[in-house]
Amino acid sequence: MRLLIVEDDPLIAASLTKGLAPLGNTVEVFHRLKEARAALAHSQFDLVVLDIGLPDGSGLKLLREIRKGGNATPVMILTARDDIAERVRGLDSGADDYLTKPFSLPELQARVRALLRRSQQRTDNRLRFGPLCFDPASGDVTLNGERLDLPPRELGLMEGLLLHAERIAPREQLIDRLFGFGEAGPNALEVYVSRLRKRLQGSGVRIRTLRGLGYRLEDDPA
Ligand code: CA
Repeated sequence: MRLLIVEDDPLIAASLTKGLAPLGNTVEVFHRLKEARAALAHSQFDLVVLDIGLPDGSGLKLLREIRKGGNATPVMILTARDDIAERVRGLDSGADDYLTKPFSLPELQARVRALLRRSQQRTDNRLRFGPLCFDPASGDVTLNGERLDLPPRELGLMEGLLLHAERIAPREQLIDRLFGFGEAGPNALEVYVSRLRKRLQGSGVRIRTLRGLGYRLEDDPA
């Protein structure tokens, strides 16, 4: 998944990253409202973890702005344990859930999984297509029940394709998912697509190229 963390406290930001970065997640961290606003204007995220008290304003302001602009990305706000009024304001401003500080990593991870499940309308954590199954809780991908040992970028690509199975996974979104800003060379994505194609040969599933648009995971009748 591609996650955005907006938190100015470096220790909390580090522990959020530590909790969310494993298992193939791409995590971007910003410390100020202004940077987060720019990131949200230019890229798509699967989930936003948003602190309320930021140095250049309230996270709730950003939340109201993006909801007003029609952005429905799931947002989890971080609030102080005893501030019930703030949590209520947050939920009323369009937050999908909240986590109180200090939090435990297992609770953070479970709440994030639950939010992603809801936003993707899944009843369990796994993403499936034909013989393929990805479990974001363990980071395991299986093909016909056999575990594929995928390096992080192939895992990110597989997840991006599974999230859009039988629909187009837009090329730009896949690049965002796999690479940090400025990291991707002109053919970087194709390299990982061709590696995954090799692994999927003869499996009944293939990755189709839609030139100029992206890729699609689909049944392979051959
Ligand atoms: Ca803060």
